[in-house]
This record gives sequence, structure tokens and C-alpha cells, in this order.
Amino acid sequence: MKKAIISYLFVLCAGVAQATVEGLKYPYSLPKLDYSYRALSPSIDARTMKIHLTKHHQGYVNNLNKALESHPELHGLSLEELLRTVNRHPKPLRNALKNNGGGHYNHTLFWNMMSPHQTAPSGNLLAALEATFGSLDAFKKQFNQAAVSVFGSGWAWLCIDDKGTLVILPTNNQDSPITEGLIPLLGLDVWEHAYYLKYQNKRPEYIDAWWKVVNWPYVQKRFERFSTPQSRLSE
Ligand code: MN
Repeated sequence: MKKAIISYLFVLCAGVAQATVEGLKYPYSLPKLDYSYRALSPSIDARTMKIHLTKHHQGYVNNLNKALESHPELHGLSLEELLRTVNRHPKPLRNALKNNGGGHYNHTLFWNMMSPHQTAPSGNLLAALEATFGSLDAFKKQFNQAAVSVFGSGWAWLCIDDKGTLVILPTNNQDSPITEGLIPLLGLDVWEHAYYLKYQNKRPEYIDAWWKVVNWPYVQKRFERFSTPQSRLSE
């Protein structure tokens, strides 16, 4: 009986919509994963997932709220608006927003960009990847290079720029592509906290395993939403 209730709850939880990334506002809170900590195993182990979400991501959320507490004039802005205008603030606030606002935004995206279900790019996203990078394999190779080349902590991204072109870039620390005027479609966290327990210093092995859990339908949805100039302006 207990087992039946647990599986029923699991089915219910699996049906919960993904955490929204756009338009998040103060006070910020940790999103709920729509899969279990062990769901991405063996690519990403349960312990890493749990610590990553409940310690690292929670830390960014707490520190972001703390930094904004004494700035009620900024509470009405969305997280994207804060990240887009981050360099206008005095240095201490700028750094707090960059690190913790970027941390919250990047990680909220990251959880959505992964799925326990095996998926593949298709349709107009696949066509755009092939047209821009030559082939899907060439795209992955270039993305992997960006991920491996991050010195220290950072991210690799597939983004769409203001002309609608797909671009790959690495970012340091928790810097968000949003600050550069880009819209992230797919991102890979290459901070050691994202893989060290299972992969230690073998970042390329983590990167290879991560491709197996990419949530391509989610990337596709973002591509469709942001690939027209009008949608990028209204975002
Ligand atoms: Mn992380």
C-alpha cells in the first residue's frame, strides 16, 4: 500500500511543470526539481545533485536576497533586468548581484536543461545548429572546447544573440550571458562542485556524460521562443 502511494506521488510529481526562469523577482527561493536527485544517474550522481541544489544553489539564493534586502528600489525588477543592468551599480552591490543573481539564474536554467529522459535535438533547432556549426557533432565539439577551456570555475553556453545567431561562449564564475545581451539556450556548469565527487579532475568525462541528460525539448522551446527579433525584445 505504502509503495502504491509512493508511486502515485511520484507520478504526480513527474507531472509538475518546470520551474519558470523568466520574470523571477525578490524575494527569491530555490526552485523544485521535477525529477529526483538520482534521476540523472549515472551521468550525475544523487549526492552531487543534492549538495549542488540544497547547498550551492541555496547559497546563491540566500546571498542574493541578503544583498537586495536593503535595496527596495530594485525589488520590482526581474532577475533578468537586474543581470542586464548589473554593471550600473556600485562595485560591492554589482559583485553581489553578478555572483548570486547570476548563480540563481544560471542554476535555475541548468536544472531545467537536464532530463532523465533521453532526447535529441530535432526540427528547426537541429537545422539551425547544423547551419551555424556545420553539423551536430561539430557543434558539440566546439561546445566541449568551450567547457574544457574554462580556467577555474565557470560555464559553457549555447546562446542566441541580438541578431538571432547561435553562439557558443564560456563564462567565468557565475557571470550570466544575460549580462552580455545574449539569451542562453543551453548551459553546462563546469564548477568543480558540479562533478568533483564522481569525476574528480576528469572534467571531459563529466562533459561527455552530461550530453546524455540534456533536455533537448526544453532547449528547443527556448530556441523557438527567442529566435525572432520581436520575442527577444519583449523578453
Ligand atoms: Mn553550480
